[in-house]
Amino acid sequence: MTTVEKAITQPGQATPAIPLFSGPDAPEERDLYKCVHCGFCLQACPTYLETGLETESPRGRIALMKAVNEGRLGLTPTVFRHWDLCIQCRACENVCPSGVPYGRLIEATIAQVEPHRKLTWMQRRMADFMLNSALPYQNRLTAMMGAMRLYQQSGLQRLVRKARLLKLGPKGLVEMERSLPALPDSFFAAQGQLVHSIGTPRARVALLSGCLMPLFHGPAMRTVTRVLSRNGCDVSVPAGQVCCGAIHTHIGDLEKARAMARRNIDVFTASRVDAVVVASAGCGIRMKEYGHLLRNDPAYAEKAEQFSAMVKDIHEYLVALPFVPPQGRLDYKVTYQDSCHLSHTQRITAQPRTLLRSIPGLTFVEMENSTRCCGAGGTYTITQREFSLRLLDRKMAAVRETGADVLATANPGCVIQLQYGTQRAETPMRVKYVTELLDEAYSNEPRRPPPGQVTAEGAWDEERQEMRARWKTRSGDRRRRIRGRE
Ligand code: SF4
Ligand code: SF4
Repeated sequence: MTTVEKAITQPGQATPAIPLFSGPDAPEERDLYKCVHCGFCLQACPTYLETGLETESPRGRIALMKAVNEGRLGLTPTVFRHWDLCIQCRACENVCPSGVPYGRLIEATIAQVEPHRKLTWMQRRMADFMLNSALPYQNRLTAMMGAMRLYQQSGLQRLVRKARLLKLGPKGLVEMERSLPALPDSFFAAQGQLVHSIGTPRARVALLSGCLMPLFHGPAMRTVTRVLSRNGCDVSVPAGQVCCGAIHTHIGDLEKARAMARRNIDVFTASRVDAVVVASAGCGIRMKEYGHLLRNDPAYAEKAEQFSAMVKDIHEYLVALPFVPPQGRLDYKVTYQDSCHLSHTQRITAQPRTLLRSIPGLTFVEMENSTRCCGAGGTYTITQREFSLRLLDRKMAAVRETGADVLATANPGCVIQLQYGTQRAETPMRVKYVTELLDEAYSNEPRRPPPGQVTAEGAWDEERQEMRARWKTRSGDRRRRIRGRE
C-alpha cells in the first residue's frame, strides 16, 4: 500500500469531520482530473527527491486533492502537512506532459485549508498583522524595516547575540534572526519618480517596486532603473502601487491578493506605458497571472488579462529590446541559479544567461541542477525551516563545485536564501542579481554616458527638457563655485 493509499480512507468508509472543498475558489475539476498519474513529475520535485515519498510528490498531492474533492478524505491536519511541505516551486508543472496546472491547484487548495488551520492566538494575530496590516502598506513596512536596520546598525544586534537573549524566544528564532540579511543604508521607494532614458528614448516602461525587495535590496532596485535607462527606457515608478499579492496567494489569502491586484491594475494602467517591468521573478509570475486571479470579477476580468499581457520580466524585456551589450569588463567567474518562478513558471532561462555572457571578461559556468529550488519559496523558509535548510545546503554544495566567485540569480527571496547559504557554507562567494552585474559592467565602460536624470511625476514630456536645462545650470553653478573656492 502506498503512502497516499494509507492516507486516503476508502469510499463510503468515513464521513469527514470537517468541510471539503467548497466555493468559487475550490480547485477546479477540469484541472484536477487532467493528471494521468504518469509520474513524469516525480524526478523534478525537490520534496519527492528528498523524501522518496509519494505523498510528498506532485502526483501524490493531487491524489489527496482528488480524494478530498470526492469526499473520501476530509480536510485534516495530516493532509495539510503534505500540501504544506510543497514549496510551490512549480517544477512539476514545467515537465508535466498533460499540462496539469499544478500551481493553480495548490494555491486553490491552500486557500481552502486556511480557515481550518489550528493556530494559537499569537500565531493568528501575527499572521493577521503581517498580511492585513503590514504587507499591503508600504509605509508601515518601511517603518518596520527602518527599526530593524536600527537594531542591526546600532550595535543592539551584537549585544542581543552576545547575551544569547534570542534563545529565550520560540524554537528557530536564533536561526531566523541569523538568516536576516543586513539591511542597506537606503531603501527604494515608489514615489512617482521618472528616470529618464540615456539618449533617444526607445520605450516607456513602468517598474514594479514591490514590497520587500525595495527594502532588503534598495540599491539593487536602483541598478534596475539605471540598466533600463542605459538601454533607452524612460522608467516610471508609479506612486500608489502596492505589493503584488504573491505572499497572500502563497498562503491562501486570495481575497486580499485580489484587492491588491485591482489596485495595481488601476495604478499601472493610468501610467500609460509600453510595458510593466518586474525585477522579482515571484512578483512577475503573480502579475502575469492576474487574469486568472480576477477571472470571476466582471469589472476586472478583461482589464486583468490585458494588464497581465503587458507584464515583462526584466531579463526577458532587455533581451527582446534588444539590450546594449556592455563594454566594461568584469573579471568574475559567475554561476547562475534559476529562480523557480522565472524558469518553471515564466519559462525564462536563456535570457539571464544571455545577459551574463554578454559581459566582457566574465566567465560563465553552469552548476549542476541549476533549476532545482534553493528552498526559499515565499514563507517556506519560516514555515518549513528544516526542509528549507536541507534544500539550501544541497544547493550550496552544487554551487561550490563550480568554483565561481559570484552566484547570480533573479529573485529577492532566492538572493536572501543564497546569501544565508554562503554564510552557512562559510564561503566568500558573493550573491548578486543579474542586473547588478550588468549595471557594474556598464559602470566600467571606458566612456560612460551621464546617468539618466530622475524627475517628479508629471514631468514626462514638456518638463523634461526644462528639468535637464535646470540640472545643467545647477551643475555648472556648482562647478564654478568649486573652481572659485580653489
Ligand atoms: S506529470 Fe502531470 S500527469 Fe503525470 S503524474 Fe505528474 S502531474 Fe500527473
Ligand atoms: S510545486 Fe515543487 S515542491 Fe510542490 S509538488 Fe511541484 S515540484 Fe514538488
